[in-house]
Parts: sequence; structure tokens; C-alpha cells
Amino acid sequence: MADRPTSIVILGGGFGGVYTALTLEKLLKREIRAGRVELGLVSRDNYIVFQPMLPEVISGSIGLLDTITPIRRLCPSTNLYTRAVDKIDLDKKRVAAAAGFGSRQCTLEYDHLVIALGNVTSFAGQPGLAEHALPFKYLGDALALRNRIIHTLEEADIERDPHVRRALLTFVVAGGGFSGVEAVAELNDFVRSAARAFRNIAPEEIRVVLLHALGLILPELPKSLAEFAQRLLMKRGVELRLNTRLHGATGDAALLVGGERIPTRTLVSTVPSASNPVVATLPVRKEKGRIVVDRHLELPDHAGVWAVGDCAWIVDARTGESCPPTAQHATREAKCAAHNIAAAIRGGEKRAFSFTALGKMGSLGHRSAVAEVFGIKLSGFLAWWLWRTIYLLKLPGLDRKIRVATDWTLDLILPADITQLKTEHPESVRRAYYEPNEIIFREGDRGDWLYVLVDGEVEVTKHVSGQGDVTLRRLGPGECFGEIALVSDQARSATVRSLTSVNVLAVDRDAFNSLFSNLPPLRGFFEQLIEMRSTAPGERMAKS
Ligand SMILES: Cc1cc2nc3c(=O)[nH]c(=O)nc-3n(C[C@H](O)[C@H](O)[C@H](O)COP(=O)(O)OP(=O)(O)OC[C@H]3O[C@@H](n4cnc5c(N)ncnc54)[C@H](O)[C@@H]3O)c2cc1C
Repeated sequence: MADRPTSIVILGGGFGGVYTALTLEKLLKREIRAGRVELGLVSRDNYIVFQPMLPEVISGSIGLLDTITPIRRLCPSTNLYTRAVDKIDLDKKRVAAAAGFGSRQCTLEYDHLVIALGNVTSFAGQPGLAEHALPFKYLGDALALRNRIIHTLEEADIERDPHVRRALLTFVVAGGGFSGVEAVAELNDFVRSAARAFRNIAPEEIRVVLLHALGLILPELPKSLAEFAQRLLMKRGVELRLNTRLHGATGDAALLVGGERIPTRTLVSTVPSASNPVVATLPVRKEKGRIVVDRHLELPDHAGVWAVGDCAWIVDARTGESCPPTAQHATREAKCAAHNIAAAIRGGEKRAFSFTALGKMGSLGHRSAVAEVFGIKLSGFLAWWLWRTIYLLKLPGLDRKIRVATDWTLDLILPADITQLKTEHPESVRRAYYEPNEIIFREGDRGDWLYVLVDGEVEVTKHVSGQGDVTLRRLGPGECFGEIALVSDQARSATVRSLTSVNVLAVDRDAFNSLFSNLPPLRGFFEQLIEMRSTAPGERMAKS
């Protein structure tokens, strides 16, 4: 141990991880310079996302790259491993980081480990959400949402079917906490101002809906401020659906508990979060999926292992209450953990963690916000000005501060940017969810996907003149449909409708054709299936 430097490994490049590294670089400057201490930070991305400003990426009022700061610039004395953490071995005191770009898995040994992996968005238990809802946590989520909004406006501008138009022009956000409210406010502002550039979209066709499970949004704020926020959102055209829970989603609707469907092609869910998978598998004490630490932020049974931020269950030493998952807390916890690690290395007294949040603020877009700072309640323009000033000061990196200030200034005079950046590769295989009695495809449609039934039951029907719709067959789990149109390159020869809730795996035309052409056993299987289906009694009857 004496031969090598003391190794401090930090996991996670968010507020918790980066501020731990930043503080340790200052506190252990001499030791790092002399090679007695080595700092390493493992993070999937090489930047920290300033999440409080993420909603503004939706409207483009600040540039995509301006909400992020490169970790290397912030922490120049830390070795950055831009890798995914695979596993933490607490007994052997090492961490396995996944293979990178053409390289192999690497193992990092530690004397001190700081776990700051945050939590993840989880749609578990809500049918269709993983397939059809958009999360809102990372930079990519904000970009995907912005692109989706512009895409739906493009589609709506040329769509003539009133039902499809209605779904395209309805935008639903689920979750009335800070991130949901800020997201819906920005989305509403953006979609209404961007729509002015589209010749065939009337403002009254746009519907923006916020779903919230309780009777009042922003439960973290005093009632009067939450009510102000509600009134303001409604005045700006946001439809508030209080005491309403999201149950699930399909490709063209948000499904509410109680059975109501809201036709939409854009559903954003900010509600559920779950343990980071690496944290979930860690054999340590947890509370609500978060790692329990002592008052010094160290794991009780694992000396030298620390946890901070959203993934940690931290009880405030002064109030005895558990700390909320906020950036404000993660930053302070990081500084406290860094101080205590330095104390453990150099010898010194450890600090117990205690922090009273300075205030709470939420932007409502359009130069308005709500805030409670040092117990003083503010709303409207003054709160908005304060919101911008404080977050600008907190944004890490001087260059980012300058860029954001410039973006905000230009945004006051320039119209909304409506360029759609297509970054995602089309998916060859995707999952989809259908409620009972939904049409999956219609006879006469272009055949572009092969479907494999994961669970549920569907009915295949064909229209026969004089007889109406004739049922050809019912299919269940493990069976597939849609192959005839792909193989024959013709329109769909039948209609498929879900009889129950259905989960499918859909394979696109190109992927199917590549497999079909190059895998003889698969080709044989489908040729036999098509032969069998086209000579089945139901099919013959439909043809006769
Ligand atoms: C839209 C939005 C708005 C918000 N607004 C505010 C606000 O106004 N004020 C406020 O105080 N808080 C706000 N928050 C909450 C705040 O952002 C979080 O509490 C804070 O980011 C928590 O920091 P963290 O470091 O614990 O986790 P995160 O910031 O989530 O960081 C976790 C890090 O770990 C990395 N990671 C995860 N798994 C792995 C893995 N297996 N391998 C490698 N790296 C991994 C991630 O990439 C990330 O870098 C907001 C959150 C959101 C989503």
C-alpha cells in the first residue's frame, strides 16, 4: 500500500461526483502534486449536465452544448475514465469499468470509493411507457423531445385526417413536480411560438396537457406559489389535469388510470425514478433504493466507501430528516464527503452533514418563475430574474456562463429556431404496446414491419365483399404476423387487431429482408408459414 499512491475513485459525473473531485483537487493539492494521492473519476459521459437548465434546451433558448461542461476542464488533476461502471466489488476494493471504444474492460483499485451514480428513469409497471413515452433527465432526452415537437408540427402541417392531426398537435407531460412543470412550461412556449412558422396549423388546434397525481402542482413549494404557477400555466394555455394518474401509453395515446385516453404522439414522463442498476445490485443497506450512509456520508460497514447525491440516503445531522434528491444537496454532500476523505487521509476531524436549502425555484417560461428564497416568496418577473441570475452563477465554467448569457440575450430578440436535428438512427427492431381492440395495421397499408407477439392475442381479418370482415385466425405469444406483405412486397393483405393488451417486437423491412435473404433456415420457415397461411380454410373462404 505504501508503494503506491492512495487511490480515490469517484463513480458518476453528475453534481455529486464532479463536486467531490473538484473539492478533493483543492484540499489534496499538495498530495496530488507529490504523487501521494491519485484521483480517478468514472463516468459514462465526459461532461456534467446542468440539469436545472435542461428544460430550456427544449425551446432552444439556450444552446444544446451550453448546459454541459467538460469534466476534464473542471477537474484537470483527475484521471477521467469515460466508461460505464459495470460492477463494484466491495470485498476486493475494486471497480470494473466496461470496455470502451475498441478497448477492454478495466479494473480500478481503490482505497476510497465515492459512489455518486444518481438514479435512473424507470417506466417499470406502466404498460407501453418504455416503448412510447419520452424520459426527461439527460441531455439526449431534451434534444429528442425538441426534435419530436418539431417533427410533429411538420407532420401536422400536411396531415388532413382530423384524428391524426389532433394526436399530432396534443402534447402531454406527466408529473407536476419541478422538472415536469418546467418542462411543460418550456414546451408550451416553444410549440406555440414555433407553430407560427407553419402555414396550416391554427393556434387553437394545439393542446398541451400536464398530468399530476395530486390536487396541486409543485408540492415542494408553499401553497400560494404553487397556486400562482397553476394559474399562470392555465393562462398560457396549458390544460391542467389534477388528481390524474398516467397508467400507460400506446403509440398514439396516453392512457389514464380510469380508462380515459388522450390521443397524442408526444408523451413526456418525468415521474418515476428507480435505483441505478449498479447501485441496485450492491449488497449494502438501502432505504427506498438509496444507499444508507452515516452522518459523515460513509457506508457504516465499509470504511472508505462513501455515497453522495441522488443515489444516497442521507439523514441531515441537525434536522434528522432525509435529504431530498436535488443538485443543491448533491453539491454540498460532495463537498462534505471530500472534506471527510481528506481528513481520513491526512488525519483530522470528520464533519457531519447538515445543510439547509437556500431556497426553491422553478421557471415557468416566458419571463416568469416562482421562488422561495430564505423564506421569502417571490413570483413572476422578479422570481424569473433571480432564477436566471442564480443559475447563471452556479453554472460550472466561465465559458459556459458567457455562452448562456449570450443565448438568453439573443433569445429576447430572435424568433424560435425550428430546425429539426435528426440524430437518431432508425430502429430496426423496436417494441410496441397496444391496448385491447387497437388496429395494428390495416388491409391495404404498406407492409413495413414484421411483428412477433411477445404476449397477448391478436385477430387477423380480411374484408370480403358481401360478407364484411372475415376472421382468418387468432394468434398468441410466440407467433408472428405481417410477413406476407414483406416477402411479396405488396400491400397488407389483411387487418390485424389486438384482442387483449399486446406487447410486440417489430422488425423493420430492411432487417427482415437481410435475414430472409441470408439465413436459409429462416427463409424456409417463412416460406412454409406463408404457404400454410395462404392455403388455410379461412383464407380460401375469404378468396372464394
Ligand atoms: C429536468 C431536471 C431539472 C432539475 N432541476 C433542478 C433544480 O432546479 N434544482 C435542483 O437542486 N435540482 C434539480 N434537479 C435535480 C438534480 O439535477 C439532481 O438531484 C442532481 O443531478 C443529482 O446529482 P447526482 O450527481 O447525484 O446524480 P446525476 O446528476 O444523475 O449524476 C449521475 C452521474 O452518474 C453517471 N452514471 C450513472 N450510471 C453510470 C454507470 N453505470 N457508469 C458510469 N457513469 C454512470 C451519469 O452519467 C451521471 O453523470 C433537476 C433534475 C432534472 C432531471
